[in-house]
Amino acid sequence: MTVQEYFRNIYDNVKSITIGMRITLKYCFQKTATVQYPEHRLSLAPRYRGIHEFDADKCIACDQCAKACPVDCIYIDKTAPRKIDKATGKAVGGQLLRYAIDYSKCMFCALCTEPCPTDCIHMGKLHDLSSYSREDVVVEFAELHKQGLHTPVPLWMQRNEKKIPWVKEEYDRVKAGREATHAADIPAVK
Ligand code: SF4
Ligand code: SF4
Repeated sequence: MTVQEYFRNIYDNVKSITIGMRITLKYCFQKTATVQYPEHRLSLAPRYRGIHEFDADKCIACDQCAKACPVDCIYIDKTAPRKIDKATGKAVGGQLLRYAIDYSKCMFCALCTEPCPTDCIHMGKLHDLSSYSREDVVVEFAELHKQGLHTPVPLWMQRNEKKIPWVKEEYDRVKAGREATHAADIPAVK
């Protein structure tokens, strides 16, 4: 190696480090794009598709949603056919033994909301169902119904409802069985 090449190598290295550091420092002083969740509430689009909200009182267990699901992650079981009682607007007949969605497979496409004849399945707005096992991300909606819930109460919500005001607001809504929004559903084709 000549002396000229030696100093050329040093120059190239210093130059590339300077370019890299300039880019790094530029990002160091920019406004952060991340938020401390769940302390800070995430801003979601109005039509954000979150964990479903399901009203078992209106479900006739017709399987239309399960047939529409492209990944077969809706599981339904009943004792006998069900139909809507016009007087009460509730499903009568057989018992809804199971209505479950496996969120390890669900891709939140909302296709299950389109064919429902009784409008009882909707895309909700909870987005975080983090849990310690795969079994815990299979949500048993028929069981939740027995507790008056339309959607699950995730762990992060249970742990933070006393500490964080916006989480308490959501916790109270979910515990009261109030649905959030139907904005992300796919309307039935007329
Ligand atoms: S949102 Fe899509 S993937 Fe998820 S249950 Fe409904 S149809 Fe299936
Ligand atoms: S389409 Fe609606 S009524 Fe039929 S099984 Fe699904 S949720 Fe129940």
